[in-house]
Amino acid sequence: MSESGTQLFPPFSLTPYFSPRIWGADSLAPWYEVPGQSGPVGEAWLTGDQCVVENGPCKGMALTEAVRQNAVAILGEGHEGETQFPLLMKVLFPREKLSVQVHPDDAMAQKYGDPRGKTECWYALEAQPDASVALGLKPEATQEKVAAAIADHTLEGLLDWLPVRKGDMFFVDAGTVHAIGPGSVLLETQQNCDLTYRMYDYGRPRELHLEKSFEAMQLKTQAGRVRPQQQNGLEVLIDVRYFRVERIVVKPGENNAALAKHKGQAQILFAASGAGKVTGEGFESVTLSRGRAAIVPAHAVAWQVSAASEMEIFRAVPQ
Ligand SMILES: [Zn+2]
Repeated sequence: MSESGTQLFPPFSLTPYFSPRIWGADSLAPWYEVPGQSGPVGEAWLTGDQCVVENGPCKGMALTEAVRQNAVAILGEGHEGETQFPLLMKVLFPREKLSVQVHPDDAMAQKYGDPRGKTECWYALEAQPDASVALGLKPEATQEKVAAAIADHTLEGLLDWLPVRKGDMFFVDAGTVHAIGPGSVLLETQQNCDLTYRMYDYGRPRELHLEKSFEAMQLKTQAGRVRPQQQNGLEVLIDVRYFRVERIVVKPGENNAALAKHKGQAQILFAASGAGKVTGEGFESVTLSRGRAAIVPAHAVAWQVSAASEMEIFRAVPQ
């Protein structure tokens, strides 16, 4: 039991879920080997509702079921009755352009019966020299100009395209019209929401959702590149409403004090390189290797990361 009387819960890892996408990659090497892959895969979901818990008391359960049965132990006080982990982390593998799209904010999502909207961020794990993303509309855009540009297939020209370099962090708040070009591998952290309104798809035959796109779209938003802040042995990549994402390097033999922050809060640990384990007393150690994620519950037993080789860890904390 923890001080508050809630049952303690050990850290656990999750099996990624691979989502086929027409704009994805035929191979996710060296990040992942997709069992039985027969077409392009665009996304590796690391903390999706359907990702399977690999160890601990909920071994074999889907994450959503583990949360439903242990909401307070995993998410903390005030989360009674929750059935979803609030943040969805994914790795994106765009090899073609993704559609131009927009996500609703909380208020719009709730109007249509969903619990939350989608604000997201992308960290560039890899980037080829010509990789780019589109974040928001150019200053001259108006509702009428956007509608006309969709009709005559020129919407790309109204978007604000930015080059992507390895190590860049981009903030994409709900309401931002956005797209991702080919040539990068992105670590996406987002509110756990599946509402995407497609505005424009370069003539591909997928369905568009224009009415809701225009309802969700904001002409001006906070989206853009975010500068990292150095803070006591870690790099704060972004710290906004809904999430905080940090980058931490852990070396073998080192007990990284920066990782001890956020004790008592649910968090996701993602390994972008190296290998190691999340260890502690009273639970079987949890392997963390490249491309894999573990969840440390709010009411976790004392834990630490032991690196077998130098690890680059990304931590996401819901807030
Ligand atoms: Zn998006």
